[in-house]
Amino acid sequence: MSLEIIPLGGFSEVGRNCCAVKADDEIVILDLGLMLDKYIEYADSDELTEISPKKLIQVGAVPDITILGDLRKNVVGICISHGHLDHVGAVPYLANRFDADIHATKMTCEVVRSLTSEEGKGLRNRVVSHPVNSRFPLTRSIDIEFVHLTHSIPQTVGIIVHTKYGSVAYFNDFKLDATPTLGPKSNIKRLEELKGLRALIMDSLYADVQGRAKSERIAQEMLFDQVTHADLKGKTVVVTTFSSHIARMRSIVELGKRLGRETVIFGRSMEKYLVAAANADVIDLRKEARLVPYRAKVDAFFKSTKDLSKYLLVMTGHQGEPKAVLSRTIAKGLLRLGPDDVVIFSSTTIPVGICIENRHKLEDTLRSMHVRLFTDVHVSGHGAKEDMRDVIRMMHPEHLIPTHGEMKQLGALKEMAVSDLGYAPEKVHILYNGQRVRLA
Ligand SMILES: [Zn+2]
Repeated sequence: MSLEIIPLGGFSEVGRNCCAVKADDEIVILDLGLMLDKYIEYADSDELTEISPKKLIQVGAVPDITILGDLRKNVVGICISHGHLDHVGAVPYLANRFDADIHATKMTCEVVRSLTSEEGKGLRNRVVSHPVNSRFPLTRSIDIEFVHLTHSIPQTVGIIVHTKYGSVAYFNDFKLDATPTLGPKSNIKRLEELKGLRALIMDSLYADVQGRAKSERIAQEMLFDQVTHADLKGKTVVVTTFSSHIARMRSIVELGKRLGRETVIFGRSMEKYLVAAANADVIDLRKEARLVPYRAKVDAFFKSTKDLSKYLLVMTGHQGEPKAVLSRTIAKGLLRLGPDDVVIFSSTTIPVGICIENRHKLEDTLRSMHVRLFTDVHVSGHGAKEDMRDVIRMMHPEHLIPTHGEMKQLGALKEMAVSDLGYAPEKVHILYNGQRVRLA
């Protein structure tokens, strides 16, 4: 008899989240994420294209499933917590290596389908959707439970693996938002009922940030507040944000209404996530905004539209990616901006070299055009120290396993658990990929 945690990605690093839970001979894979910067560096593209999985493992762009060796045959299910690429982006490359179904909420399943059809290979695995806040039998001895958590994409869940040796919770990416703008709050009641788990594997990205993550309601108010007092008559207004952030997109569409402008949403990835949200019955924003996904249509819009001040223009490209709509249309002279035009970044810069460099370049260009720049009109989807403290207190796991962080962040979570919450140091496990922990 045994219960083991096998880290495969995202331990002592940020990205390619993946973890295996092994109960006797059965293994459940939790998330199959991409390390986006390494992927882009290797693939020379931010689009998912056909690349050898072996190569992607070698460059550290996808989880190192070779750690499992022959145990790969023992995988009985792949469960995905939510639809962000650092949790689901490796599915098109690695899922076929396992003879197992993929389980996720409806929104996440839609993202999986969209990614795999884009990659063009198709999956051998069945993709099975489950409601948020549901429990289903995976095998005769393992049940899986999805518990709703607030994050920056709809239908994010904490995954509980119920085994005969106790339950293991995987809460990777969440915050406890008391006033979300789309969808319900985190299922606090269930978290409290789950008290006394064997282990909690937890997002520690902002474990060294004091306080609690700010509510999405605050981001919404910031967005409305930024342009309320500006004289926008005859001016162009551009907003850029994360394509997968459906709650934010809804607030931006609302901003368009407040400004009395038609919202036009540009970019293929914007369309992809809006369609996923509509198919998953989350919200259909296509009814309230015009979508212009493809490059030729984007170019045609700008060539044929004389007066941009009738529209709220929503675009991909918040990281300054040269191929995304914002940078590309400026570089091609299609989107011409001048003094007192407005550009709002409803995002934060991802702190990796290439993103920082691209954003610098884009902001320099925008400043040279004398536009009014509004940056960081954003709140994070990741909980801070006090969100983490609350969850640990509610669930009181026997073992705590910080993930989704470099050593500094994993260590900050351990420090809090040991100093403030009375955990014995040997019950809080700081791990590297491949470093197994036996719990029973
Ligand atoms: Zn996420």
